[in-house]
Amino acid sequence: NSVFANVVQAPEDPILGVTVAYNKDPSPDKLNLGVGAYRTEEGKPLVLNVVRKAEQLLVNDPSRVKEYLPITGLADFNKLSAKLIFGADSVAIQENRVATVQCLSGTGSLRVGGEFLARHYHERTIYIPQPTWGNHPKVFTLAGLSVKTYRYYNPNTRGLDFEGLLEDLGNAPIGAIVLLHACAHNPTGVDPTSDQWEHIRLLMRSKGLLPFFDSAYQGFASGSLDADALSVRMFVADGAECLAAQSYAKNMGLYGERVGALSIVCKTAEEATRVESQLKLVIRPMYSNPPIHGASIVATVLKDRDMYDEWTVELKAMADRIISMRKQLFDALQARGTPGDWSHILKQIGMFTFTGLNADQVAYMRKEYHIYMTSDGRISMAGLSSRTVPHLADAIHAAIS
Ligand code: PLP
Repeated sequence: NSVFANVVQAPEDPILGVTVAYNKDPSPDKLNLGVGAYRTEEGKPLVLNVVRKAEQLLVNDPSRVKEYLPITGLADFNKLSAKLIFGADSVAIQENRVATVQCLSGTGSLRVGGEFLARHYHERTIYIPQPTWGNHPKVFTLAGLSVKTYRYYNPNTRGLDFEGLLEDLGNAPIGAIVLLHACAHNPTGVDPTSDQWEHIRLLMRSKGLLPFFDSAYQGFASGSLDADALSVRMFVADGAECLAAQSYAKNMGLYGERVGALSIVCKTAEEATRVESQLKLVIRPMYSNPPIHGASIVATVLKDRDMYDEWTVELKAMADRIISMRKQLFDALQARGTPGDWSHILKQIGMFTFTGLNADQVAYMRKEYHIYMTSDGRISMAGLSSRTVPHLADAIHAAIS
């Protein structure tokens, strides 16, 4: 007669559950390509040098205390984060039209943005791409929005379904919210070209659709922080409203520090002030105020010219290692004569390759080769190394043949 006798066992998270299964596997050859976390060539997690430096500065500064941050977080961090995504010369920032609040990484920023929209925006429907990061539909549904999808990926070309995307957004109700991956679309690795972005922007603005950018990989896709923010900046430059959720998990390697920001670009400074006042009402009963450590690291790095430059070099090295893994995997499949066209491994960008392997092939590779990935065939390129590429190529070859 326990009071929780009726609680049923919940399924594992589809992404984090891959790591749970991996951890249980005793094989010395096992390889975890499930979770999107950067690994070194030696397969180890990486703490950036510049992050270690910033932490040293923080630890040695006696004026640092552990007081509560304001509900909106660290003011410097918010200003610098807006500048990072919208650009140093952003007119919206100069005109004080941007409300930025520190949130719990990308996920928390999406959730706070979603709840704000559910309370204060007239159209409660959000369109998310098909497919998308598995947490999106859950985050927005629980935020109080109604979730619909728009076509995004064409499995035949392994590229963008641009016509399908335009048709679905064209048929969305006036004013609907549209979730856009700023760059390095997860899980497909397929991004619109800048011409296609311009097309999307014109269509969305003509229908009053509200863009909500998810920027979880700025700098990680191309190695350039500016290039990876191009889509967001195109939308902000036209002067209309826009939301952006930023994460420092991948680009600064601060995964577990849970540091991110939500920015809402408004039409006027006065509106941005009112929007911020309402964001506080969303945040206060949710977690009161955000944690101080991660945001202090980010602010320390972004504020100092030398540290900022050092960060961009380390960030580019991570992006380049991922790009070189694409080349190595592609070459290894060519060398084995694996049937099919694998050029999408080279074309897709960001942390993931959407291999095109089906759930049966994924299960086979787990069973026979101890290689772990999500059942949609997505592999994290950041989890690969020169040493493990041949094992993966053997497994793919066997699964296909
Ligand atoms: N959005 C996308 C598309 C992601 O891939 C991720 C992480 O995998 C996130 C958001 C959120 O990550 P975090 O909450 O760790 O910043």
